[in-house]
Amino acid sequence: MTQEGFLTPLTDIDDFESPAQAFTSEDGVPNARGRILGGSSAINAGFYSRADQDFILAVRDGLVEAGIDPFNGFSLDHVIGIKIGGSTFDSSGRRRAADLLNYANPSNIKVAVYASVERILLAPNSAYSPSKQAAIGVIFRDQSGRYHHAMLRRKGEVLVSAGALGSPQLLLLSGVGSRPYLSTWGAYLEAASNVIPFASPANSVFIRTSPSPVYLTVATLMEKIVGPVSPGSLRLASTDVRLNPIVQFNYFSNTGDVERCVNGTRKIADVLRTRTMEIFKFDQWFGGRDFRYVGPALPVDESNDELMREFCHQTVNTIWHYHGGCVVGKVVDQNLRVLGIEGLRVVDGSIFTVSPGTNPQATLLMLGR
Ligand SMILES: Cc1cc2nc3c(=O)[nH]c(=O)nc-3n(C[C@H](O)[C@H](O)[C@H](O)COP(=O)(O)OP(=O)(O)OC[C@H]3O[C@@H](n4cnc5c(N)ncnc54)[C@H](O)[C@@H]3O)c2cc1C
Repeated sequence: MTQEGFLTPLTDIDDFESPAQAFTSEDGVPNARGRILGGSSAINAGFYSRADQDFILAVRDGLVEAGIDPFNGFSLDHVIGIKIGGSTFDSSGRRRAADLLNYANPSNIKVAVYASVERILLAPNSAYSPSKQAAIGVIFRDQSGRYHHAMLRRKGEVLVSAGALGSPQLLLLSGVGSRPYLSTWGAYLEAASNVIPFASPANSVFIRTSPSPVYLTVATLMEKIVGPVSPGSLRLASTDVRLNPIVQFNYFSNTGDVERCVNGTRKIADVLRTRTMEIFKFDQWFGGRDFRYVGPALPVDESNDELMREFCHQTVNTIWHYHGGCVVGKVVDQNLRVLGIEGLRVVDGSIFTVSPGTNPQATLLMLGR
């Protein structure tokens, strides 16, 4: 995958084989999930935050001027204040999300691509505790539709890493959970996560004046609601594991999240009012200077709570950091073992109640390792 082509896989989709699998939540949020070796990390944006140097400096100074500090320079740490972040693309703009496989012992690993796990096989744990179940393997289907078993060796474990949509879906389809075929089991989806109320001139964009008529810088300022409290939900739509489950994000169903969006939007407005952002403004017909927005512009009366809330509802969007579904304490224990079932763990973003601070992929890669 190359950095330039990030959006292409998101639009170039088919029913069963494209690297990105599109889904739309019940509440109408268009979204995507990776369907490729390396998962969504193979199709994601790599959190590339380096922009035009003038723009970086102006936004930095604007943020400092608006009272958001300190400026931490370049940092991979999740720190309070302002920073320039890193990316998983290498210096030539490429990345391979399944690189960790290079460290595997090739004689000890088999990778099946174009394969989907249909069910986790469960059996009574032992003659001594027949009421308890244990995972004994999986059934998967290959590209040509043939079914295969992969069975555990003694003391082996099934590790499920099918993501925030795939893992709860697979567990439900395998009969794990109280209502296997239609369920909101497991305190689902805190998905509202990082749903970006791109409030403000967020979602909106401003266009920079330039000496050359063809050179335009279009920029987006966004805010992210970290650890939103609006809960989402997931339930099965079909017994075919390749089809998306039904997801509802419920963004801003909790008023606390809306208020945080309103606060963040006002902060962005503060930044836009700073002296350092002046250079991004255009002369207006009737005199004065202002930004040119693409998309909804901030309410003129920012003190009007109702208008600000409406703006948040209008501009909320996904940044694909949905998570939850098999959260720790409800579905898995602290060591990510599925509660009540032997030999079965879930290791992916479905175990998070809250997305870990910043963009999730670094934490998820380490979790996998
Ligand atoms: C478009 C996009 C952009 C993003 N940008 C960023 C970013 O810039 N920075 C960042 O930190 N995060 C970003 N993310 C989020 C990040 O990529 C995800 O949070 C992360 O990849 C989730 O990892 P995971 O292991 O939980 O699941 P996933 O990466 O979703 O992996 C799950 C894997 O399991 C496979 N699978 C599912 N069900 C089955 C089954 N039944 N049988 C076999 N295989 C199955 C899927 O095909 C997939 O390969 C982005 C995500 C997307 C979609």
